[in-house]
Amino acid sequence: MDNKERMQLPYQEMPELPVTQRLAGPVEVNRGYSEQQALAEAERCLQCKNAPCVAGCPVDIDIPAFIKLIREKRYTQAGLKIKETNSFPAICGRVCPQEQQCQEKCVVGRAGHEPVGIGHLERFVGDHLIAHSQKPSRAKPTGHKVAVVGSGPAGLTCAGELAKLGHQVTIFEALHEPGGVMIYGIPEFRLPNDIVRHEIKSLVDLGVQISHDTVVGRTVTMDEIRGEMGFEAVFLGLGAGSPRFLNIDGENLRGIYSANEYLTRVNLLQAYRDDYDTPIRRGQYVTVIGGGNVTVDAARWALRLGAQTVTIVYRRSRQQMPARIEEVRHAEEEGIQFQFLTQPIKFIGEDGDVVGMECIRMELGEPDASGRPRPVPMADSEFTIDTDLVVIAIGARVSPLVPIAVPGIELDESGHVIVNPETLESSVPGIFAGGDLIPGEETVVRGMGNGRQAAQSIHQYLIGRD
Ligand code: FAD
Ligand code: SF4
Ligand code: SF4
Repeated sequence: MDNKERMQLPYQEMPELPVTQRLAGPVEVNRGYSEQQALAEAERCLQCKNAPCVAGCPVDIDIPAFIKLIREKRYTQAGLKIKETNSFPAICGRVCPQEQQCQEKCVVGRAGHEPVGIGHLERFVGDHLIAHSQKPSRAKPTGHKVAVVGSGPAGLTCAGELAKLGHQVTIFEALHEPGGVMIYGIPEFRLPNDIVRHEIKSLVDLGVQISHDTVVGRTVTMDEIRGEMGFEAVFLGLGAGSPRFLNIDGENLRGIYSANEYLTRVNLLQAYRDDYDTPIRRGQYVTVIGGGNVTVDAARWALRLGAQTVTIVYRRSRQQMPARIEEVRHAEEEGIQFQFLTQPIKFIGEDGDVVGMECIRMELGEPDASGRPRPVPMADSEFTIDTDLVVIAIGARVSPLVPIAVPGIELDESGHVIVNPETLESSVPGIFAGGDLIPGEETVVRGMGNGRQAAQSIHQYLIGRD
């Protein structure tokens, strides 16, 4: 088959759960390719020599090579090819913003067709690896001890890579279950918890120890970790989990949640289950403020918790929404409404409960520091939205605990840890950092890339001590 013929092959759509079956609970909406579909989609790849798609992947996966292995039905080898640079393909295949990364650069897409479904194929081989996984063999111990703080994608990847090199790794995690945002933030209808738990179990099989309910800076200090506990190096993967608020009147009314709290109650503490005690308000007329993945996740959860209407209020227009295109499409299919170019200016309360929200219409002005058009209020355009539950999902910031947990560490003006970009070492020798804790894109795949890079640097650091 020549390239012209390959480009005419039909794109394989991801099978999805019908809308009518979605709202009963957190069942995954994307169902995954069948083998037949994976083979058909792999045929669409032109196996480009210069492979521009690889440049679009933050962890440089050899995309044509793994797709070629799928074509040859060598699925385990395809998975291992991906694992050369990305430890968790079943996770990235599900949540990576592929359409803005690898697939955005795909030659087939650039020629006016649907780009090759790289993410869907990655998920296919990731799931194959999970279904056929074997207990990993442990490396010969080096005698070095490394502490990893935080068990999100950055911490888990770093821990896994260090364990493979034979170092003794302990993860300190503040919550009772590891996984970071992948467990407490991203809903199961996008990323089932069992996928994340499987990957964590494989780290435990490699010898990684996990200390739950341990808040570094409170339960245990960095001095203790590096002193009497004997850890020679530390990786910080604390993420950026402190919520941002609008700072407008009425924000303390009952019925107003930060997205962080709302999602943690539902995802991690399973408030959607009748047999669980976790309290949560189930609003009838829910409003979610923001425009990113977190916003859309919270809105879709509110529908699953029985809301009659759910409205996303965003101050820019649809084109500027940072949420994944697929997520916005799913939200629309499920019946979520949107109020674009709208900014809340005040919450209205009755007996301490939120009952409404005063808003103002916005128009787009000159680009701001983010390069997107700045939303500007329109004169005399105030109006009210009735609502009995509000979720504020306008972003998060690094925890103010970081300088307490790591005295003397250098931070930038937004509170992110400053690192050497080559090594990811912070201003404190022997302490490395990655993921949302350092400046840059806040994505799962970047966290994983940082975790891998830091593991290499920590290995060099430990060898240097030898
Ligand atoms: P995190 O995943 O935030 O993990 C940090 C961990 O550190 C947590 O478990 C926390 O409990 C722990 N911790 C914090 N402080 C301490 C302490 N003092 N001591 C011990 N442990 C501590 N990205 C995508 O690529 N695709 C998506 O679709 C996507 N959707 C998202 C949806 C939601 C709702 C959210 C919130 C984020 C989403 N993201 C998405 C962003 C992505 O999840 C993050 O970029 C990524 O998880 C960051 O990884 P991390 O390892 O740096 O930190
Ligand atoms: Fe694409 Fe993400 Fe996979 Fe890289 S990790 S190939 S960007 S889906
Ligand atoms: Fe295949 Fe597209 Fe990458 Fe070319 S750019 S190798 S067609 S995935």
